[in-house]
Amino acid sequence: MSKKQRFETHAIRGQADRTDYREHSVPVFLTSSFTFPSAEQMADTFAGKEEGIIYSRYSNPNTDELISKVCAMEMAEDGFATASGMSAVFSSIAAFLESGDHILASRAVFGSTHQILTQILPKWGITHTYVEPDKVEEWEAHIQPNTKMLLLESPSNPGLKLVDLEQVGAIARKHDLIFNIDNCFATPYIQQPSQYGADLIVHSGTKWMDGQGRVLGGLVVGKKEMIEKVRFFCRHTGPAMSPFNAWVLSKSLETLAVRMDRHCRNALELAKFLEKQPAVQKVSYPFLESHPQHKLAQKQMRLGGGLVTFEIKGGTAAAMQFLNKVQLVSLSSNLGDTRTIVTHPASTTHSKLKEEERLAVGITPGLIRVSVGLEHIQDIMDDFEGALQRG
Ligand SMILES: *Cc1c(COP(=O)(O)O)cnc(C)c1O
Repeated sequence: MSKKQRFETHAIRGQADRTDYREHSVPVFLTSSFTFPSAEQMADTFAGKEEGIIYSRYSNPNTDELISKVCAMEMAEDGFATASGMSAVFSSIAAFLESGDHILASRAVFGSTHQILTQILPKWGITHTYVEPDKVEEWEAHIQPNTKMLLLESPSNPGLKLVDLEQVGAIARKHDLIFNIDNCFATPYIQQPSQYGADLIVHSGTKWMDGQGRVLGGLVVGKKEMIEKVRFFCRHTGPAMSPFNAWVLSKSLETLAVRMDRHCRNALELAKFLEKQPAVQKVSYPFLESHPQHKLAQKQMRLGGGLVTFEIKGGTAAAMQFLNKVQLVSLSSNLGDTRTIVTHPASTTHSKLKEEERLAVGITPGLIRVSVGLEHIQDIMDDFEGALQRG
């Protein structure tokens, strides 16, 4: 594939070689293993002397196709596709760290990533320190002699705080740390962390990448020598993505750019509408001028993303009432769907956190997260307007 092609073209034309049928759309390769024309070629393939697909836990034409597409979109060299976003997050850590190592992590990470850091990694002697996502200038002071990795998300969930990726890149280079970013919220269409020196870029394909709420999937892409380690870890521990899910995701990516354009347009319009509602205390959206990091957002993001969060006046009771009153949009914990979804993080996705941990990442009792879908924006606003009326 020509490197000169642009994002949308990679997403659509970056497909695998055709089979002898010369199909226009990529077929699904539902096969667990592959055959060899001779014993010698089989031996050479196993020895890595010849390229070939051996077994679908290692690789498969569909996962290979998806990976090469995501690599082109992320400007990354290599990748591995996993069964879910969480297996991608876990593999991107476990493939590198050893007992005694330390992670400097942005405090505002996905709920299950927080569980990995606090409940799972300590079993193997891997520790972490949380740092504030919007204060990267303070991170260096928390680096320990055993710190190996910087782990972050930007924008964060659900507070939509940004991490300055250029600053993180500089710290990672200066201290020789692995720069690991979960780029799921932005997608490569909106933000390409490899421009800032990210070593590992992790995705939950379940969210905007599929964008239609159908499959689970995850990806780790990045520098070739780093992905070698991820591949070794994944091949032998087995979190491979199914070929069917890879096929679905690869199809989805063909429309990522047009979907994200509309998601972001709807999100900005909804955010501006919410700012004017008397029942709303505060609205957070990176491309709103009122966002404290608006300048940074415009520097490192092409658009503001599909998520909007707002704080309703009246705390938990008001938030619950709003959720019970919406009629069009869905109550779900998922995000990144064609359908608009509203979530109350304090009682659902972040209910496992202690109250003070929630408040530290801005999850107040009245906070509502909106994953803005592709319905007509006026219908979304009408539904919100009705649900924000008291009584
Ligand atoms: C959903 C999500 C994950 C986990 O992805 P799954 O596919 O559900 O395992 C990880 N990181 C972020 C930012 C997410 O939104």
